[in-house]
This record gives sequence, C-alpha cells and structure tokens, in this order.
Amino acid sequence: MNIETRLVHPQHQSIQGDRFRASVPPVYKTATFDQDSPLAFGQYDYARSGNPTRDALETQVAALEGGTRAFAYASGVAALDAIATFLRPGDEIVVSRDVYGGTFRLFTQAWAKRGITARYEDLTDAAAVSGLLSARTKVIHAEALGNPMQTVCDVAALAEVARRHGALLSIDNTSLTPLNIRPLELGADIVLHSATKFLNGHGDVTAGVLTVRDDALAKELAFHHNAEGVALPARDCAALLRGLQTLALRLDRQQASALVVARFLAGHPHVKRVLFPGLDGHAGQGVHRAQSRGDGAVVSFETGSAEASSAIVQALTLFATRVSFGSVSSSASMPCWMSHKSIPASARAEHAPPADLVRLSIGIEHVQDLLDDLAVALARLDAPESVATDSPGRVHRSHKHAVRSRP
Ligand SMILES: *Cc1c(COP(=O)(O)O)cnc(C)c1O
Repeated sequence: MNIETRLVHPQHQSIQGDRFRASVPPVYKTATFDQDSPLAFGQYDYARSGNPTRDALETQVAALEGGTRAFAYASGVAALDAIATFLRPGDEIVVSRDVYGGTFRLFTQAWAKRGITARYEDLTDAAAVSGLLSARTKVIHAEALGNPMQTVCDVAALAEVARRHGALLSIDNTSLTPLNIRPLELGADIVLHSATKFLNGHGDVTAGVLTVRDDALAKELAFHHNAEGVALPARDCAALLRGLQTLALRLDRQQASALVVARFLAGHPHVKRVLFPGLDGHAGQGVHRAQSRGDGAVVSFETGSAEASSAIVQALTLFATRVSFGSVSSSASMPCWMSHKSIPASARAEHAPPADLVRLSIGIEHVQDLLDDLAVALARLDAPESVATDSPGRVHRSHKHAVRSRP
C-alpha cells in the first residue's frame, strides 16, 4: 500500500470491539477501565498504561514509519527525552551540530544532571564519523534534514557506522516526515518526530512520537512510557490522527511552494544565501536526493544583517512571526532569537544559528500570495525609513502592525 493510501486507511480505522463501529477512533477520555474481577485484567486498565485512542495513533505512526511499535508523548522533546532510556551515567551521545535548540538544551543541560555527556560533531561526512566516536558513545543522533541549517545526514551510512560501533542511531525525522524518508528502513534504530509540526500540521497540538523496529528496544520504551507517565492524552491523539490523514496533500503542496519560494529568494538581490535541499548547489543535495522523496517545506535564508532580516520578518503580512513550522499557514522566524534561544550563552558562539538567519515555514496558501508578500517585505529594505530599529528578538506588536499596512 502506498503511504498516501495508508494515511486514510489506518489499520485501526475503527477500534476493535466498538459496538457502534465508529468510522474514526473514538476519544476514550477515561482514566480507568473497569475489570470483571480483581484478578482479571482486560486489554486496558489505566490510561497511563494504555488507551485505545492512543493505540490507534501509535499503530498508524508505526506503520507509516515502517516500524513495529510507536510511542506517543506529550511533546517532541518528551520523545527525545525517552532516548535516555538507552543511556547510563558515563555514557555519551554524539549529536549532529544542526539540531533543534530544545534538543541541545535537553541533551546538554538536562542530561548532564544524569551523568550523560552530549558531544556535537559534524556528521555530514559519514566516512569520518567512526573516527569521532569513543568507547562511551552509545547513541548517535541526527536530524535527517537539520533544523534550521538544512544540513543533510546520510542515514544509511550513519546506520552502518553505528552498527559497527555497537551504538544506536536515532534520527529526528520532523522536517521530512515518513512521506519523504523512512529512517528505520535505512537502518536507523529509533526515529522520532515532533508531531507538533508536519504530522499534525494544524498548529493545535504539541506531541512527539518515537518509533522502533526492534522488540527489545520497544519493550524498554514501553516500560518507561508507563513508568514515567509521559504519554500523549487521548484527545490530542485523536487530533493528531485527524491531522495525519491529510499529510500527503498538505506536504505535496507545501513542498512544491517551498521550491518556488526558495528559487525566488535565491534570485533576490537582498538575499545573500538560501538554504534549501531542493536548490542546486545545496551541500549534501546528492545524498538528500538519494534518500528523500521530497525537500520539506522549510526554507532558510540569510541577508547578511540581523537588522535587515528582522525588518523583513516584521514587514511580512501573510507569514506570521512565530516559532515552529509545518502548519497549514505560513510563518517566519529568526531561529537564533526564537526557537534556538534556549542554547545557553556560553555555547551560543559555537552552537547558535547565524544571527541573520530567517526560517520560513511554507503553508498551503496560494504560492503567488506568498511570493507577493515576500517581494513587498524585501522591497521595504530599499526604503530606509521603514527599516525597523528594534533589536532582533524583541519585536513589538504595535510596531509590527505599523509596518504591516501595504502601500
Ligand atoms: C520542534 C522540534 C522538536 C521539539 O518538539 P516539541 O514538540 O516542540 O517538543 C524536536 N525536533 C525538531 C527537529 C523540532 O523542530
């Protein structure tokens, strides 16, 4: 079955045993499930341990990712945190340099308290990666397409390096989705999503999902999922199941528009550099084309000046200024000052994205409207009085509205 079909024909389309045969999984909003006797447990007893709505979601994501079991968490970061299940005090995780700011904060600051060390390396040259590992390296973690620098990692090659080293490979597939790449099929051990982004696609749920193939890994994750009580509530599972149905439709449109936007920006005199794997000349494009069906819908660009970038973002009207990406409506952010601001001051010089970087998330609007919005915002740079004087990261709404009115 092709993934487009599977998206709308999940295995658990209706919950087994539902006497009303609901066409979509009902929201089992209950904390407990009654038992026939103290010794006879039904399939479910307590919602932290298991819930039919959550099972429906997890079964569907596992199928989409080509895994055997998936686990839904309250956020992408909570799913990332579950990777610590496979690390002990003294162990090390080797991480791609181009990762989400919250990933950096979790691995570096939160896990340090558990005696786990995170080391950030350039993982784009898979042949050089085995030389970067130590006896303490137990997990290698990378984003298949990095957020926000759009760095490409060769998943199959990294999987081979990890396997030879006896480490696990964990791939954050948030920006590409299983529609484009299925890391487990390329040899990764763990694939995870901030489902807050493309999987849900409507910006109304925070969620994370982690999927594995190996039974032993699944068993350990299942134990911790229940023991730590970090599962996604049923209502959010149902919302995510609904969002997932249109993943292919949304992403096809978003990716097609992202390429048009990237090409437009690449030809614009105020734009210094565009980062998008669909553009010729993108470093890693060869690997990307070989492993991914599409390019995602995030386009990053630089102008050479944080003030100019901030002025552009503020002058946009269709692109809302907001963190996150993958929603049906377009947005713009400056990762250095927003999503990656959590990188601590001492590490910013080395790990923060460039101060002038703008990250666009392309939605499902008509692409011409997006191009017009960008053209007008970029043209504002030619009129000096409109250049914002705010420092980036402190964008005042009142000012934004002043800039918003079109000529
Ligand atoms: C947003 C994001 C996360 C964190 O997910 P939340 O749902 O915000 O907790 C992890 N990885 C990537 C690549 C992200 O973009």
